[in-house]
Amino acid sequence: MSDSKRKDGVQDKAVKVVDSIQATCCVVGAGPSGSILSLLLARRGIPITLLEAHDDFDRDFRGDTIHPSVLHLMDELGLAERLLKLRHSRLHMATISTPDGPITFADFSRVDKKFPFIMMVPQAHFLEFITNEAKQYPGFRLLMGASVQELIEDDGIVRGVRYRADDGWHEVRATLTVGADGRSSRIRRLAEFEPIKTSPPMDILWFRIPRKPDDPEGVLGYLGRGHGLVLLDRLTEWQVGFIIIKGSYSQIRAAGLEALRKEIAGLMTAFPDRIEHLQDWKQVSILSVESSRVPTWYKPGLLLIGDAAHVMSPVGGVGINYAIQDAVVAANVLTESLKAGQVTTDALAEVQKQRELPTKVIQWLQAQGQKRVITAALRSNQPLSVPWFVRLLLHVPFIGDLPARLIAHGVKTVHINQS
Ligand SMILES: Cc1cc2nc3c(=O)[nH]c(=O)nc-3n(C[C@H](O)[C@H](O)[C@H](O)COP(=O)(O)OP(=O)(O)OC[C@H]3O[C@@H](n4cnc5c(N)ncnc54)[C@H](O)[C@@H]3O)c2cc1C
Repeated sequence: MSDSKRKDGVQDKAVKVVDSIQATCCVVGAGPSGSILSLLLARRGIPITLLEAHDDFDRDFRGDTIHPSVLHLMDELGLAERLLKLRHSRLHMATISTPDGPITFADFSRVDKKFPFIMMVPQAHFLEFITNEAKQYPGFRLLMGASVQELIEDDGIVRGVRYRADDGWHEVRATLTVGADGRSSRIRRLAEFEPIKTSPPMDILWFRIPRKPDDPEGVLGYLGRGHGLVLLDRLTEWQVGFIIIKGSYSQIRAAGLEALRKEIAGLMTAFPDRIEHLQDWKQVSILSVESSRVPTWYKPGLLLIGDAAHVMSPVGGVGINYAIQDAVVAANVLTESLKAGQVTTDALAEVQKQRELPTKVIQWLQAQGQKRVITAALRSNQPLSVPWFVRLLLHVPFIGDLPARLIAHGVKTVHINQS
């Protein structure tokens, strides 16, 4: 029996803990950041327990993009060839339709010779691939259906977590706990980290329509007429994101499904009739777009990485990239301390130090894109025209390659320490 004091406002109540296991590192959340960190630590012989609240990796409407930077990291691990055998599509360029014709704002072949494309693969398949890889190492333990509810703290030091599973409460005690539990991070809340939030001007409605074999590959984008539309290639389906003014969902809903279909068909010039597959509001999910960053990513015994430390706006689709780069840096910086059984706050601070600036820079750039391009499109009742000087700049060597470079590699390239 263990007395447990909850920090999240839910009643203080003693919980009956079925068992307690020990790990050097306990990672909460098997998304891209948690899975990669677990793999990297496991292959260095560090006992690691990865806890995932869901019973499987199936996620609706999550990022399905593996950017060139991640493909290079997979290559460093000797996994790229096998990863690329998973069924996927390839995005070589990012293009948006405008009244003056299509504009390619990112051509990945200009910034990466080895992997000149974004791999589009269901995130669930990627996570299964990574965790199956980690299972080869004896120190790795993955517990699915393990929903972390509490931190175990002792004199201000985090010593592990308590989680709930079908068979009751369990605890994992660890030298280091890593919160990799995503945008609504419970670990962040339990540790009382207050994120600094900015307010992106939009929300996104997600749904699916069928994709035909002779449709274009990759991503299609349309901006203007008060909305934005992005279509992501999921092999047999298009994952459609309809960008709306923040908070306007109830108005759109009140106007009815036919009005929504008409609005989308007006933008989606490639195959407007395909919108007829949207027949019920139940097919539509709403994403409240957020962007935030916690000022400090750590406290004694605890580190946040990925969306738990910084929720990324979907602009540029870089969230997975950043989450994985955080994991790589955390593994590089902390391996020796974990092997020695003691992780200092200085070591945790070093992880934040290496990742904070790239995060701030990309969030600033996303905010500019939101303010100058997306807000303009949402306010206009015409398809968006791109100013002539922007078109010109996109053809200037180096400057024209910046969008592709940022999407492909982020602000700072990271590598896996092989020692
Ligand atoms: C609709 C949508 C579309 C997106 N599209 C893109 C895109 O195209 N490209 C891109 O790069 N990024 C995209 N993103 C962002 C991207 O998905 C995230 O930035 C990325 O997944 C962050 O990875 P993470 O590992 O930090 O967190 P997550 O991927 O959120 O993983 C967190 C994991 O923790 C688990 N978890 C949560 N709470 C608990 C708990 N209490 N106990 C145990 N486990 C828990 C969750 O189940 C989840 O598996 C999109 C995001 C959304 C919401």
